[in-house]
Amino acid sequence: VLRMRSVRKTFGGSVVLRDVDLDVAPHTVTALIGASGSGKSTLLRCANLLEEIDDGAIWLDGEEITDPRTDADAVRRRIGIVFQAYNLFPHLTVLENVTLAPRRVHGIARKTAEEQARELLERLGLGAKADEYPDRLSGGQQQRAAIVRALAVRPRLLLLDEITAALDPELVGEVLDVVRDVKNEGMTMVLATHEMSFAREVADQVCFLEGGVVLEHGTPEAVFGDPRQERTRRFLRRIV
Ligand code: ATP
Ligand code: MG
Repeated sequence: VLRMRSVRKTFGGSVVLRDVDLDVAPHTVTALIGASGSGKSTLLRCANLLEEIDDGAIWLDGEEITDPRTDADAVRRRIGIVFQAYNLFPHLTVLENVTLAPRRVHGIARKTAEEQARELLERLGLGAKADEYPDRLSGGQQQRAAIVRALAVRPRLLLLDEITAALDPELVGEVLDVVRDVKNEGMTMVLATHEMSFAREVADQVCFLEGGVVLEHGTPEAVFGDPRQERTRRFLRRIV
């Protein structure tokens, strides 16, 4: 679904991504792990064309999206992204939040958009919250609603950046359950996380970043169980 080759990204003079190669197969979950500042968020933002890369190339479904002729808005409509916090519009109900993009961006009729949104909210355990405003929801419910909103436009790929980082520990589980459900429905996802247990459980592929380099990638069993790089080992020892 997603392919990156020799992606390089600099801010000012400093290199933030260095020769990054990444392959994301359909219906898989890729977890990006690594210390703060290693480039995880930047990698996601480059994949979504929120940042322009300095070198290399990125393909979505075989189409080179870093080609200068690409319509970036059209690409962003095919890639959903959810951030750590503040994802929902506070002045709109959950249902209005979820139907906004389908109606405005994709031109789907209100009635159809609302039916689809209610069905999706129901499936992900938020049916009862459709008509509430975000401030009436727990942090975990808000994040789940944000995921539903990203899914409402039926993206090809869903990017999740530290979606549990702002949550109280007891709320993390329900968000992770939703990610698991979404995975089981076949969505392709790339997520940045500091939750190693989550990465281990839900990911098909784990990529360890350090200083903007993908130092190691493989199955969770390989990366967590028997890391090849001493630096990966050191990172995992420090945080577990
Ligand atoms: P964290 O785990 O804390 O979220 P991260 O792995 O997501 O970290 P990034 O946010 O991708 O790290 O940042 C990587 C590096 O790029 C950092 O050194 C950061 O300071 C720098 N950086 C990120 N965004 C910008 C920007 N807009 N302008 C300048 N430097 C930036
Ligand atoms: Mg980040």
